[in-house]
Amino acid sequence: MDRFVDLHTHSTWSDGSQAPLALVREARAAGLSAIALTDHDVLDGLEEARAEGAREGVEIVCGVEVSARMEAGEVHILGYEIDPSPDTPLQAALARLRAAREARTPRILERLQRLGMPIDLDEVKAIAGAGSTGRPHVAQAMVRRRYVRSVEEAFARFLKEGGPAYVTREMLTPGEAVALIRGGGGLAAIAHPGLLRFGGTGDLEAFTKSLAGEGLDGLECFTSAHDAGTTQACVGIARRLGLLPTGGSDYHGDRKTGVRLGRTRGGGRIPYAILSDLRERLAARSASAARGESRFVGEGGRKVGL
Ligand code: AMP
Ligand code: ZN
Ligand code: FE
Ligand code: FE
Repeated sequence: MDRFVDLHTHSTWSDGSQAPLALVREARAAGLSAIALTDHDVLDGLEEARAEGAREGVEIVCGVEVSARMEAGEVHILGYEIDPSPDTPLQAALARLRAAREARTPRILERLQRLGMPIDLDEVKAIAGAGSTGRPHVAQAMVRRRYVRSVEEAFARFLKEGGPAYVTREMLTPGEAVALIRGGGGLAAIAHPGLLRFGGTGDLEAFTKSLAGEGLDGLECFTSAHDAGTTQACVGIARRLGLLPTGGSDYHGDRKTGVRLGRTRGGGRIPYAILSDLRERLAARSASAARGESRFVGEGGRKVGL
């Protein structure tokens, strides 16, 4: 029987609508053999996901999605098969990023207040639940107060980079994000590359190539964010650069409309071989690290000081 995976999902620990437990149950109902939980800047949902995955027969890949900043805007780097233990340099770096994100929420609310849209911080905190507050939760509070009709409208008119309520926050560079993930024992892939604000495929390939030189492992080709043409272009780039094509829906439950768990935009599924190939690459790396052949900063158990 063919087996399928989804290597890009979010839970209530970041901005998904489902707790890890419910997400894993939904994955099983969708016929998935494995999912990667890739919450933004946080690993706290992994334990619950793994426990439920063991009960439900769904493999859980320990993942994360880290935001980085470059000239062309934000880029998201996915980490796969990272070490979720507490007290690691990766955990410390993520905690710092979350604190920076949280600290900026009151400043966003100040801007909204000045724009005539008052919101209490407690409202945003209630929406974020256990996770750290960020723009998606502010956007939802704006919808609840009927300042806007949808989360998308909140971003498009006010919260997007350069928007009137936008406040910047500390972010890593893409290279730092890759090093952080690899230092945490994992593989790094560019999330939804088709969303990057580049002039064309040539620019995307040049950027991907430079990041491959810093240790990038994969390019997310199969995703709800890509049309068929973009998917093909990304597969071509991955092949030319010796990177693995990865795939995931970027599921956020009902917080992101039009995305189905385990499905790409056209309704396609993601074969299990995508995950096997990732694991093979990681195993090969561990073997070469054991022989003392580390090439990249952060490899072979070295601490990354981010
Ligand atoms: P923050 O980490 O607080 O800066 O918020 C960034 C998150 O907001 C992203 O990871 C997305 O999940 C979400 N987001 C960014 N842009 C949009 C958009 N245009 N519409 C809906 N959600 C968005
Ligand atoms: Zn998200
Ligand atoms: Fe993303
Ligand atoms: Fe995502």
